[in-house]
Amino acid sequence: MAAYTLPDLPYDYAALEPAMSGEILQLHHDKHHAAYVKGANDTLEQIAETAENAGPAATVGLEKTLAFNLSGHVLHSIFWKNLSPDGGDRPDGELADAITEHFGSFESFSKRLSTATSSVQGSGWGVLGYEPVSGRLIIEQLYDHHGNVGVGSTPLLVFDAWEHAYYLQYRNVRPDYVTRLWDLVNWADVAARYQAAKSAGAASLLVP
Ligand code: FE
Repeated sequence: MAAYTLPDLPYDYAALEPAMSGEILQLHHDKHHAAYVKGANDTLEQIAETAENAGPAATVGLEKTLAFNLSGHVLHSIFWKNLSPDGGDRPDGELADAITEHFGSFESFSKRLSTATSSVQGSGWGVLGYEPVSGRLIIEQLYDHHGNVGVGSTPLLVFDAWEHAYYLQYRNVRPDYVTRLWDLVNWADVAARYQAAKSAGAASLLVP
């Protein structure tokens, strides 16, 4: 049985229009996300076969391919749930308090995440993450799906900055796409991720 499977979208392809066109969402989920799932499963198999038949040295490079595809699968799975046709507005409760504590205000947080997303060089993601060693919320700028990220931090809200996420609709104007993404954010989902990450804490890292 395959280790990874493509999750269904929690809404119809057209549900996020007009901010995100149905055509983009269908291609993004059915083709791009599906390719990362297949890539992760195929690479796992390939690593096992190569290690057995040709020795561990022959697997060099395949681990990076696994990291790329597996991280692509995880990030897209989070991205779909971070968005909702009923999204937008602002968070409340503990998540809102933590945003104010760590970024000064919601406005300053949203500006920083928008800027991190808009300014990714090439392909990547803007990420609001929970960093368990300090217990802080942090903004991260991920390259591809798996570069430039702090080990142990948990993504809570992820904005896909790859051209496949917006180019058919927004052409080269990535900041306009990012501005519209805020109208789709499912804060209940982000808050649930924050609580889960906080509960897990740094226990599994076994660092001070
Ligand atoms: Fe994507």
